[in-house]
Amino acid sequence: MSHWQQLKNKALELTYRTADQHVRLAVTGLAGAGKTAFITAIINKLINASPEHASQLPLFTVCLEHRLLETKRVLQPDLQLASFAYDAALAQLTGEQAQWPASTTNISELRLAIKYRPKQGFRGRLLNGASATLLLDIVDYPGEWLLDLPMLEQDYQQWCRTIWATVTNLSRSPFYDEFKASVMALQPAADASDELLATIANHYQRLLQDMVQQQGFYLAQPGRMLLPGDLAGAPILSFFPLLPEQLTAADAFGRNSIYQILEHRYQEYVAKVVRPFYHDYFAGFDRQLVLVDCFTALNRGKAQFDDMTKALNAITQSFRFGRRSLLRRLFAPKIDRLLFAASKVDQITRDQQGNVLALLNAILAPGRNFADSAGCAVETMAVSAIRATKPGMVRDSEYGEQEVVVGNRLSDRQPVTLYPGQVPRQLPDAVFWQQQGFRFCDFAPPQLQPGQTFEHIRLDYLLNFLLGDKLQ
Ligand code: GDP
Repeated sequence: MSHWQQLKNKALELTYRTADQHVRLAVTGLAGAGKTAFITAIINKLINASPEHASQLPLFTVCLEHRLLETKRVLQPDLQLASFAYDAALAQLTGEQAQWPASTTNISELRLAIKYRPKQGFRGRLLNGASATLLLDIVDYPGEWLLDLPMLEQDYQQWCRTIWATVTNLSRSPFYDEFKASVMALQPAADASDELLATIANHYQRLLQDMVQQQGFYLAQPGRMLLPGDLAGAPILSFFPLLPEQLTAADAFGRNSIYQILEHRYQEYVAKVVRPFYHDYFAGFDRQLVLVDCFTALNRGKAQFDDMTKALNAITQSFRFGRRSLLRRLFAPKIDRLLFAASKVDQITRDQQGNVLALLNAILAPGRNFADSAGCAVETMAVSAIRATKPGMVRDSEYGEQEVVVGNRLSDRQPVTLYPGQVPRQLPDAVFWQQQGFRFCDFAPPQLQPGQTFEHIRLDYLLNFLLGDKLQ
């Protein structure tokens, strides 16, 4: 061995011995995609995984090879971030009457220390049979935040024009007319008052919230208006788009004019809310999982499904890491594994799971050539974090043997045996929407008996893609 090689080995040995390895895994998805349930499930699976329970995660190689020794929660690194409420979520799922935990509303994190035995090979030999530790930070954040990305490149006027050019879905809400009338009544050159702007911003917020939470659409800007958290009521969120015809000669309006104040708030929102998220958090992620609930959108109808497709493709813009991309220039992101996973596939029969995967690929096709080229591996899967159904078979006089799912309905906890219908393999066409043969239903979480653990679908396969190489 050359002197140089010896030195290099020595340096590597020191790194391995002194520094724990570290991965930041971010989990996102649009509201209701299953982030909280998923994170709770993987923490629970990892904490309970040990060489004796290797069979629980057979496709997670480190488990299969009996090398995963112990996983513990440790103090989280970022003191200004909320902690992911694992204990509360687990308590709800394992209570006397099991409940799904409360959904993600903000960014939060949790750190796990995974102790494992490295494989033979260079690292294994260096550690000489000793164990190694991987520090895993799991960061949960709403996917709606990624929908604000285009605002980084738009000024206020461009943003107003974009919003009004795409109002088709907004105009389906009963709150649309009220909002539009209040904006039309404004004189943008007139002096601004906090109350007036707050009133109209409230109308805009009510409209966005109705569109997403009641009408079932997905695209909304600014993203923080849906779940404002600690920004609720702050002037930085108190803005809305003026109509394109109100923007003419706007630059000449006085400093206290409605136009200037709205423009200033927009700029502040982009500088103090959107940019810091990418700069402080996004740029530090190593691995990213995006969960996608395809079934709710299919149930809702064509307009909502198309909107989800657009929203997901807008989200993929945040993973365009090509050398000339906006993100690369601004934040130098380092995500090297990106996974889109169709969630809750226990809601459909086993024979349809391949279709969901094909559908997810079709949904993502427009933005598909995004990250691969920049050294980021992109994968799609179909999973269920917490299995709430069991597969079954029924004999149908017309169709013969038929696969079904069996579970308890969430609304009344009554047992149901369901054939939810066929999942299209392609983006659904007009015929599909006319026939719309779907009957998906929300299921209550499983009621665990003492000693039982949650069942899942392919979480082990997913963990292997996201973490397997770090546990070699
Ligand atoms: P979030 O908004 O992304 O945090 O989504 P949640 O984790 O709160 O999940 C939203 C809802 O989806 C839950 O309340 C459950 O009803 C359902 N859900 C989540 N994960 C699963 C799953 O693996 N299987 C089933 N059947 N339902 C799930």
